[in-house]
Amino acid sequence: MYDVLVVGSANADLTVRVNRRPGAGETALGTDLVESAGGKGANQAAAAARLGVRTALLAKVGDDAYGELLLAAQRAAGTGLRHVLVEKGARTGTAMIVVDPDGDNSIVVSPGANALLSPAEVAAAREVIAASAVVSLQLEIPYGTVREVVRIARETGTRVVLNPSPTPEELDPEFFAAADPLIVNKHEARWLTQLHCGGPDEWARALRKAGARSVVITLGERGALVLEEGAAEPVRLPGIEVEAVDTTGAGDAFTGALAGRLAAGTSLVEAARFAVRVGAAAVTKPGAQPSYPTLSELPG
Ligand code: ADP
Repeated sequence: MYDVLVVGSANADLTVRVNRRPGAGETALGTDLVESAGGKGANQAAAAARLGVRTALLAKVGDDAYGELLLAAQRAAGTGLRHVLVEKGARTGTAMIVVDPDGDNSIVVSPGANALLSPAEVAAAREVIAASAVVSLQLEIPYGTVREVVRIARETGTRVVLNPSPTPEELDPEFFAAADPLIVNKHEARWLTQLHCGGPDEWARALRKAGARSVVITLGERGALVLEEGAAEPVRLPGIEVEAVDTTGAGDAFTGALAGRLAAGTSLVEAARFAVRVGAAAVTKPGAQPSYPTLSELPG
C-alpha cells in the first residue's frame, strides 16, 4: 500500500531569526514570526512524498488552526493522511525556533497532541504497518507508542528506520535491534555512545556494538557516514557545497529521502548518497517542510 509509513510527530514551527541566539537570562530582538509546518514525523513524510514516494503519516494533531496548517502542508506534499488523528480540544504540537545568521538554530518543543498518540492507536494501524515497506520513527511521540510500532514491525517484518531524537537518557536494546538503520547526527551519536572525544567511525562502530544492525551518522555540511550490516568499514559520503540559509529539518529531509530509497530496494549506501543531496537542498531555503525539494530541484 505504502512505500514509507512515518509514525511520529507533527508540529507547527514558530520561527524567529536573530543576530545571535540568546543564552541564559538574555533577551534577543528578532524578525517577524513565521509559522510553518514541521515536526520530525511530518517533516520526514513531507520529504519523502515531495520526492514522489508513496508515503503515509500516522500522527496526531489538535482541532486548531495549527492542525489545519499541518494537514494542508501534507496534502500539498502528497502524503496519505487517512491515519492522521485529530484530537478534539487538544493543541497541536508547537516548536519555538530561533535561527542565527549562520543558519544554526535552537528549538523548544511543546508536544501538545503528539503526547496523546497512544500505543492502542498505533496498534489499530497494524495492517498499514504490515503493508508498508519501511516504517520511519523518531522520538517526539510517547516512548511507549514508538515501542509498540517497533514490536508490530518486528512481527510483520517491516523494515524500521529509527532516528532516536530527541535523544533519550538510554535507548532500549529492542530499539537498537530494530533499527536498520539507526540514523543520528553527530550530537546524538556522541550522546548515545558517550564517546566525547571519538570521531564518526568510532561512534558508528559503538552504535553497531550496542545492537544497531546498520548505522548512518549525518555530519552536516560534511555529508554522512554509513556502516552497513556486516560491513567491516564505514563508508564516508562527502557533503555537497551549498549556501546554508536555515538547517532546520535537514536531518528529517535526509531521513525521509533515505527511507524512500530503501523502500525502492536501493542499498543503504546509495540511499544515503541520495539523502545527502536532499539534506543539502533543504538547507538552502528557510523553514523545514517549505525547504524540501522535489526530484527536479536536487543539487549534485
Ligand atoms: P540535523 O539536521 O539532524 O542536525 P545534519 O546537520 O547532520 O542533521 O544534516 C543532515 C543532512 O543535511 C546532512 O547529512 C547533509 O546532507 C545536509 N546538510 C546539513 N547542513 C548542511 C550544510 N551546511 N551544507 C550542505 N549540506 C548540509
